[in-house]
Amino acid sequence: MRTAIPVVELKGATREYPGVVALAGVDLTVRRGELAAIVGPSGSGKSTMLNVIGTLDRPTSGRVAIDGHDIASLSDRQLSALRAQSIGFIFQNFHLAEGVSALDNVADGLLYNGVGLHERRERAAAVLDRVGLGDRLDHRPGELSGGQKQRVAIARAVVGEPALLLADEPTGALDSTSGKAVMELLRELNAAGTTILVITHDQDIAESLPRQVTMLDGRVRYDSAAPADRVEGAC
Ligand code: ADP
Ligand code: MG
Repeated sequence: MRTAIPVVELKGATREYPGVVALAGVDLTVRRGELAAIVGPSGSGKSTMLNVIGTLDRPTSGRVAIDGHDIASLSDRQLSALRAQSIGFIFQNFHLAEGVSALDNVADGLLYNGVGLHERRERAAAVLDRVGLGDRLDHRPGELSGGQKQRVAIARAVVGEPALLLADEPTGALDSTSGKAVMELLRELNAAGTTILVITHDQDIAESLPRQVTMLDGRVRYDSAAPADRVEGAC
């Protein structure tokens, strides 16, 4: 049986800044349909790794392949296309455009997918409905709670139906009830087929997910899915 192409494959991925090795030779494979937590102390390289996986940042050395594409072989233009089609991002502080309705914040998630305005808005309305905000289409970020803003941000991230959803502390700015609702939504999206990586400081959230990857000093210190932890052939 052939193994399916991993959604994410890092081999010796390294990202150096002047005087700092933010990512120090990371090997990581993420397969289609996974939902994994990335944990570790502040400064351990979690965001750097997510940005490298999300092709927002290129590694200084090592191999990064997303959906089977070796990103070193792609031009900036091809990389933008891959990002637009295959990757969605969610951040702690929502990154929504102020003064712009929820509908258009989400519709803008399709700006680089070659979809006309009418269809962008139609698809945005459908996804906002799916995240429980069908009655908030015209509301601007300033008129929404933190939890609602994060649901708008999630809708924007998934409106293009990306294979991979990357979330950097998505519940970090939310109260625990809103945080639970956001995690519930991520679980639903995962059950519907989206591969998701979530950086979190919340140990309960991390332990509730199927896979945990722990970072320390720019390296993966523990991976619950590492081959050494699997009992091959057990039944
Ligand atoms: P985490 O998300 O786990 O808190 P980061 O990936 O943000 O960690 O940072 C890892 C290390 O890289 C830290 O020492 C940080 O100061 C450094 N770093 C991150 N981004 C930059 C940058 N743009 N310039 C210089 N150093 C950076
Ligand atoms: Mg970070």
